[in-house]
Amino acid sequence: MNLSTDHLAIRTTCAYCGVGCGVQATPRDDGTFAIAGDKLHPANKGRLCVKGSTLGETVGLEGRLLYPQVRDADGLHRVSWDDALGKVADAWKDIIAEHGPDAVALYVSGQLLTEDYYVANKLMKGYIGSANIDTNSRLCMSSAVAGYKRAFGEDLVPVCYDDLELADMVVLVGSNTAWCHPILFQRILKAKEARPEMKLVVIDPRRTATCELADLHLPVKAGTDVWLFNGLLSYLSRIGAIDPRFIGEHTNGFDAALNVANADCADPAAVAKICRIELPLLLEFYELFAATARTITAYSMGVNQSSAGTDKANAIINCHLIGGRIGKPGMGPFSITGQPNAMGGREVGGLANMLAAHMDLERAEHRDVVQTFWESPAIADKGGLKAVDLFKAIEEGKVKSVWVIATNPVVSMPDADQVRRALDKCELVISSDIMQDTDTTAYADVLLPALGWGEKDGTVTNSERRISRQRAFLQAPGEALPDWQILSLFAQRMGYSGFDFCGQHGVFDEHARLSGFRNAVSDVPRAFDMSGLAGLNQREYDDLEPAQWPVRRNAAGKLQTEVRLFKDGVFAHADGKARFIATAPRLPRHAVSEDYPLSLNTGRVRDQWHTMTRTGKSATLADHIAESFVDMHPQDALLSGVKEGELARVTSEWGAMVARVQHGGGIPRGSVFIPIHWSGQTASDARVGAVVNPVVDPVSGEPEFKHTPVRVEQFRVNWHGFILSRDEVNLDSIAHWTRIQGREFARYELAGRNTIKDHAAWARALLGVEDLDADWLEYEDKTAGVYRAVHVVDDRIAQCIFLSPRQDMPSRAWLASLFAREQLSEIDRVGLLVGMPVEKGADTGPTVCSCFGVGRNTICNAIIEKDLKTVPEVTVCLKAGGNCGSCVPEIKKILVQTRVEAEEARL
Ligand code: SF4
Repeated sequence: MNLSTDHLAIRTTCAYCGVGCGVQATPRDDGTFAIAGDKLHPANKGRLCVKGSTLGETVGLEGRLLYPQVRDADGLHRVSWDDALGKVADAWKDIIAEHGPDAVALYVSGQLLTEDYYVANKLMKGYIGSANIDTNSRLCMSSAVAGYKRAFGEDLVPVCYDDLELADMVVLVGSNTAWCHPILFQRILKAKEARPEMKLVVIDPRRTATCELADLHLPVKAGTDVWLFNGLLSYLSRIGAIDPRFIGEHTNGFDAALNVANADCADPAAVAKICRIELPLLLEFYELFAATARTITAYSMGVNQSSAGTDKANAIINCHLIGGRIGKPGMGPFSITGQPNAMGGREVGGLANMLAAHMDLERAEHRDVVQTFWESPAIADKGGLKAVDLFKAIEEGKVKSVWVIATNPVVSMPDADQVRRALDKCELVISSDIMQDTDTTAYADVLLPALGWGEKDGTVTNSERRISRQRAFLQAPGEALPDWQILSLFAQRMGYSGFDFCGQHGVFDEHARLSGFRNAVSDVPRAFDMSGLAGLNQREYDDLEPAQWPVRRNAAGKLQTEVRLFKDGVFAHADGKARFIATAPRLPRHAVSEDYPLSLNTGRVRDQWHTMTRTGKSATLADHIAESFVDMHPQDALLSGVKEGELARVTSEWGAMVARVQHGGGIPRGSVFIPIHWSGQTASDARVGAVVNPVVDPVSGEPEFKHTPVRVEQFRVNWHGFILSRDEVNLDSIAHWTRIQGREFARYELAGRNTIKDHAAWARALLGVEDLDADWLEYEDKTAGVYRAVHVVDDRIAQCIFLSPRQDMPSRAWLASLFAREQLSEIDRVGLLVGMPVEKGADTGPTVCSCFGVGRNTICNAIIEKDLKTVPEVTVCLKAGGNCGSCVPEIKKILVQTRVEAEEARL
């Protein structure tokens, strides 16, 4: 009998993107937890993408930071919490006394729970009296915040996920939704399946996986989005696709915005030229937009991460305001956030230019509301340092101490080598983290262990304003504490009252009460109001169901929420009207040049998250894309003197890194794409942040991650190789390496500049196999410079190493499969010596479908042998694409390529 264990499941939320999927963690008999989608959560209704599905692979304690530590001349030493926090409190008191409150800073993260964020913000702005708290959300969505604030008067997301399904057209701008918000993308595709007439338009310089399933792809030149949307505004006005009553009664600034749009963008041919898209394609989009009232324009990093990011957001919003396409089902501008709790951070004022509960630092009445509610000794009255300026001020010695919480700025910031220099110079660096060794913790003078996903408990808010509980289901490891508690204990050591919370429930209650405090039309009104959730008892907080704000109680005490804002056409500006913003188009600050002829675009890959401190632990996720790459057009590669599969150095005015060249097929001439995930822990030299320019948007302070002038050159090496090993290998002597997590082993991709005279001796020394009697199978072709060796222990493969002057080496997928064998067979041993699998089908190829572990070769073989013609046929045959669907665009591409190649071979 199959007994359901659903009643044992703990309902929580995913740790990764802003979709905010509900997750169920169900205990197994062996003490581990089965992870599945929460069918009751409205964001995902039971589905999870591969990152969410593999959360269980990331909760092990390997590499965890478990105890407070303080650094002295001999290195880090374990200390008590009391000593660690006492050291920080003493230092901060001295620094503040001598240099003032702006000489200290917090740099926090969209990974924090709302309760953590709330306490950090209260501490900094209400007690230390400085707004020097910024967050890594500055790097991903601060332009969207600024755009909403300028247009609506408050940071308000007008739409909800259901609107994506209700729309007749979804326009995705600068968003590889298929990879970065996979469950939302699946919801859009399902709606399109049910209503094939629904249109999907993608505006993106790259032909991403998202484009594979779009009706229209506009490969707009990076940085020209404002021309495109100003052109649309001008076009809509010209053809009369406007709502004059809505414009007149509910908006201001129309004429000025239209005049600016008309000045440069009235002629579609001129717009098409600057955006580098075909005129008919541009007009097709304009006509579709004009004809489709129910349109959602969803945007993310491609819009936000720009020196004109705020203007881009407003240019989009203008095109919705002109037709009154807002506040009704299936329409509106929709910023999709990157991080799991970027929205929660926005609610509590986690950015340096915001106050708590959507109030403004610059407004005296807002400061009064917050300070009165907190009964705090101080209140910051001017904006603090935004991320890029903060690290500059640290390097200049103006900020003497920084406390970095749940983020890795040495990898993720632009001009990341500057961040290194800043932390190196900083008098006192404190880092609260879940991992012992990160590129940032290496600079910490005080290390504080924080709880991670599965251990911590609180709330997060997703991209559609939905507050959900993230619940603990694992024991707190070592002496790790929740971030809100670490900060509260520290505040108490500083001598502040107001931090004696009874638990995260108490913090949440205070946050909810503040949102409703003096929040009435006659007082200081704000649309952000979750006062309906104030006064919950512990049980009610524990059982809290996902709820969208605003959430208030009516006279009868019943909770009332609003799924969609601005239904009544009333906005949050004092006059109740929305603002058109005049957005004069401008190109990225730094133009490409002879020295740096290519434009670098950065972003995520499907199966990794941020700097891989968590996803890097999962072998399933590592299977998809193992190494950092520089994706470029073949002609640009030719001109740069690099070849696909080879390593290349990518250099900008700010720094350099090394990645493997690939031609993904989606990159236009003149630009390159590099993923953001690899750090000093996972590769020798693959931090793309070191290359990115530190230019920021003047309004939002968000960096220009989508455009940095670079050059690409050959990274010369003498040999290539790789290792698979059950034990860690020290690679300090190797010119270039990447570490990839496997199941029961680690894989290292290598390239060296040294000359190896004695391959066997060198390989044995590197792998630590000095015993000449060890079971060591080897093959060497001295003339060709090819060497391979396998170290076998108790009939199981323990390590293997392959070296060659060329790139053509055996399949890693096949070798990885041998590590799962209890015993190597004779056929396996023969295969190892000849350097290829002897059995047919043993080489499954690189993983395409991570959910079911289906490799490219398996898919190609099935397409040919079983004559598969469609993605559903592939799914029925192999399961691939049948779970989260993130790989469906890739399968579609493989299907087309394989069938074309087979046809060409037949002819
Ligand atoms: S889409 Fe994937 S990564 Fe994002 S919240 Fe859902 S499961 Fe997590």
